[in-house]
Amino acid sequence: MEQYLPTIKDLLDIKDELYAKGLITPFGGNISVRCPDDPKKVLITPGSVYKKNLRPDQFLCVDLEGNILNESKYKTTSETPIHLTILRDRPDINAVIHTHPVYTTIVGLTEIEFLPITSDAVIVGKLPIVEWTRTGTAESGQTLSQAFSKGGLFAVIRNHGLVVGGPTLHFASGITSMIEDTCKELVICKSMGITPKLLSKEDIDYIHMRRGQV
Ligand SMILES: [Zn+2]
Repeated sequence: MEQYLPTIKDLLDIKDELYAKGLITPFGGNISVRCPDDPKKVLITPGSVYKKNLRPDQFLCVDLEGNILNESKYKTTSETPIHLTILRDRPDINAVIHTHPVYTTIVGLTEIEFLPITSDAVIVGKLPIVEWTRTGTAESGQTLSQAFSKGGLFAVIRNHGLVVGGPTLHFASGITSMIEDTCKELVICKSMGITPKLLSKEDIDYIHMRRGQV
């Protein structure tokens, strides 16, 4: 695992960032990323470990079937099937972040419409919702992989949380925050009985055009 320490440091940095925002909780949420030297190997957070104090030696290296490849007394997160099914089915995705964000979960439960209220919301676009599945089952992975099958990179799991994939950890983390921030704004508007003013079609086109140039 020595050779993966820089990647594990990235995982810890992203975990700290998401933990500070309350998106990863002491026992909720997990992160995975392909090993830099082999796309068929994945570094993933352990299960049943207090997330705030995660250490580099607690991360696990697994193959895409979930076999643990390093010596460790820890086991992989119970939500490993979600990560590995997506990584098996989508070679373009290198990192998967699963979080338990409060406002996104409320949107999943209440189906408050995900509206273009900010540029973040426009970039996210539509927010797919999939039904709850039992943790650790093959079905939990298949449900997400299906939601990602048309090039999608994220989905809300009803009664549970959010899964985001991306080419890098930073991309997946950024999208996770954009989704949660937008859901928070929408839930607060709804709670206040306010119908938010939406960006116009021209503004939306402009945001997409500017994004294409970046
Ligand atoms: Zn979860």
